[in-house]
Amino acid sequence: MSGLSAASTAAFTTPEPLPPWAYAQATIAAIYDEAPGVRTYSLEVASQHRQRLLASKPGQFNMLYLPGIGEAAISIASPPDTHPLLHTVRAVGNVTQRLAALSLGAEVLIRGPYGRPWPLEDLAGTDLIIAAGGVGLASVRAAIRQAATSRDQFGSVAVLIGAKTPEDLLYQHEFAQWQAAGLDVVLIVDTAASGWQGPVGLVPQLLDDQPISETTTMLTCGPEVMMRSLADVAFSRGLPAEQFYLSMERNMQCAAGFCGLCQFGPAFVCRNGPIFRYDEIAQFLEVPNL
Ligand SMILES: Cc1cc2nc3c(=O)[nH]c(=O)nc-3n(C[C@H](O)[C@H](O)[C@H](O)COP(=O)(O)OP(=O)(O)OC[C@H]3O[C@@H](n4cnc5c(N)ncnc54)[C@H](O)[C@@H]3O)c2cc1C
Repeated sequence: MSGLSAASTAAFTTPEPLPPWAYAQATIAAIYDEAPGVRTYSLEVASQHRQRLLASKPGQFNMLYLPGIGEAAISIASPPDTHPLLHTVRAVGNVTQRLAALSLGAEVLIRGPYGRPWPLEDLAGTDLIIAAGGVGLASVRAAIRQAATSRDQFGSVAVLIGAKTPEDLLYQHEFAQWQAAGLDVVLIVDTAASGWQGPVGLVPQLLDDQPISETTTMLTCGPEVMMRSLADVAFSRGLPAEQFYLSMERNMQCAAGFCGLCQFGPAFVCRNGPIFRYDEIAQFLEVPNL
């Protein structure tokens, strides 16, 4: 497989990561049950590292560390400069299941913020379509909040959210606020339950009712199959690949570009991502098991 050209290397511009082994102590101040197997943790960060950890941008992530267990990359669900920090976590493996067993007051070590954020600063005045599936909504929550609180910075803003069932929808108590702030929030589930009156199906279907103009930009996070399908639909409607961004939540270990576990083609997801512009990685998306 060929290496990156000079032009595509230039496209992988990332903020410098913070020293990778500088952990901050954090205490679980609140736990919110979002959905079966998914909780949001409110983390109070020790004051000496607080400023550094809160200096995040929407789309970045932290590494949560449980000594003796391991670390997991988790998106920063809270907006920048907001304390306590919020992390929404699905319990799937070693770290996240052990985290789910912790109680209020327990200590978690944390380092970050890492990664390339959503390019919101470059998108002033554009129409946004933010599309998320499952726990991928955590990665775009801070961007949604920014669009809601700085509504006049953007044109139209649609938020398309998918989940397996209605009870799997995260942040349900916030949808009305987002809608009231002028965002068009549209929900879809794979399988309906009694009382569900919205559409049943997959997130890409929701694009059918969304206008796509030359100023539309899409921000997506969720299962890769969902993001690829969204891209296919959007591109068939004329959206240029340079206006489609996706968060690649691949397994990672060091988060500092050292270990190579998250290598994706010529890029490291931790340093060059997790947010990529579609055209930067298009040729690698179809490679099985990459
Ligand atoms: C940038 C980024 C942001 C992320 N943000 C979030 C977020 O906000 N919220 C969130 O919940 N997740 C998020 N993730 C995903 C999260 O980092 C992973 O799910 C992570 O692996 C969880 O760590 P763990 O130790 O609990 O799971 P691991 O033990 O690493 O297990 C991860 C997966 O592998 C499977 N697995 C584990 N061991 C084996 C084995 N021996 N054989 C086969 N399969 C196995 C598990 O069943 C599980 O599905 C993010 C990932 C990235 C890269």
